[in-house]
Amino acid sequence: MVVIGAGFGGLAAVAELARGGIQATLVDRHQYTTFQPLLYQVATGGLNLEDVALPVRTLLRRMRPAQFVQGRAVEVNWDRHTVGLEAGTTLGFDHLVLATGAATNFFGVEGAAQHALPLYTLSDAARLRTRLISHLELAAATKASSPRLRMVVIGGGATGVETAGALAELRDLLVGRDYPELDRSDITLELLERAPQLLSAFHPTLSQYARKELERHRVVVRTDCRVQAVRDGEILASDTGPLPYDLLVWAAGVAVPDEPAYRGLARTPSGRLAVTLTLQPLEHPEAFAIGDLAGASSGLGAELPQLAQPAIQAGRHVARQLVRISAGLPAQSFPYHDPGTMATIGRRSAVAQLRAGIRLTGTIAWMAWLGLHLVELLGGRNRLSVLLNWTWRYLAWRRPGLIPGPEAESDP
Ligand SMILES: Cc1cc2nc3c(=O)[nH]c(=O)nc-3n(C[C@H](O)[C@H](O)[C@H](O)COP(=O)(O)OP(=O)(O)OC[C@H]3O[C@@H](n4cnc5c(N)ncnc54)[C@H](O)[C@@H]3O)c2cc1C
Repeated sequence: MVVIGAGFGGLAAVAELARGGIQATLVDRHQYTTFQPLLYQVATGGLNLEDVALPVRTLLRRMRPAQFVQGRAVEVNWDRHTVGLEAGTTLGFDHLVLATGAATNFFGVEGAAQHALPLYTLSDAARLRTRLISHLELAAATKASSPRLRMVVIGGGATGVETAGALAELRDLLVGRDYPELDRSDITLELLERAPQLLSAFHPTLSQYARKELERHRVVVRTDCRVQAVRDGEILASDTGPLPYDLLVWAAGVAVPDEPAYRGLARTPSGRLAVTLTLQPLEHPEAFAIGDLAGASSGLGAELPQLAQPAIQAGRHVARQLVRISAGLPAQSFPYHDPGTMATIGRRSAVAQLRAGIRLTGTIAWMAWLGLHLVELLGGRNRLSVLLNWTWRYLAWRRPGLIPGPEAESDP
């Protein structure tokens, strides 16, 4: 049994397989797993890299008899039932779970990949933090007229809203304290979204709340704003003249990359792997595909969202199906239970859309977000260190000064 990808889905599958006494070999291109929902905190200095990443081998201690192999999967030979890794190693499998997630989507916008900073991996977050500090120092040393630093976030979904909110809080906190040379008006922050509202996946009242909260923190929100091209220091967008920027964050969405391992497998119109109701790729019943990678049906005519819960639940589900298959039973359909969707905007400010039409905003939504992410999603990962770091920073509201992100390994 081989599971490719040690993210939310792959780890959930391996943990459940271990419970069923089934041995699995887990493969990941990194030696660590990343908790993506808190990457924006790393990028803005609220958390350390180690708070959101943990060695896979540490997690596997509790998932014996699972094994780990670090390497990037570059080929699946479906005739021989082998997975080829970049370094040349080959792993044999009887069943295969594909859980390699997605990647930043620049939507073909000219110049975006070259000039904008994405926020998808640990190295992205470290790079963004380093660039942010360079720009703050440059602004502090510049005698030019205001504004001295123009920050723009592209994408008004959860990641963009969270990042803009965290940058706004950072600006309010650092300016005048660590950067007495700077005034608040020296740093501008804009959030661009091509849809008519922020957080399109949420109820309109929650979208409006998010916008108001950001504007309260002096974020300029531009909706119906379609970015057409990005140049060095300038964004070309619909309905506005050229927008100048110094620091540009790309949080506009994700897509399944054209991984060589999946060449030839059918895709859904959105580019995710096409799977049956039992989460098996159409051509290969000996495999399962889960999480961001797979275009699993929500049962309501759409695909499941690219969020942690669908990946975790699918991971557990396929592991149970593999136990059934080993007992000679057929695989069952995947029933997804939606626990709701949430996004933070800042300290004690969040939106939550829960079951039965329950909608929360403000501190209570923020507490719900904190509870879900720290307790349910983070599980046994670095929960304690994150909790301590956060409790201190949010209760005392004393964020330490920024230091550059250590150079994280670049993503192959
Ligand atoms: C900035 C950000 C914020 C987010 N915030 C939230 C949130 O608040 N709530 C929420 O529910 N969801 C959030 N998400 C989405 C959530 O993180 C994903 O939906 C979830 O991680 C998907 O799980 P997965 O197992 O499919 O993939 P991932 O968790 O991405 O794991 C994929 C794994 O596969 C590995 N891999 C990739 N290619 C290869 C290869 N060829 N060979 C070997 N290994 C490979 C990767 O290194 C990675 O470890 C956020 C995502 C981002 C980027």
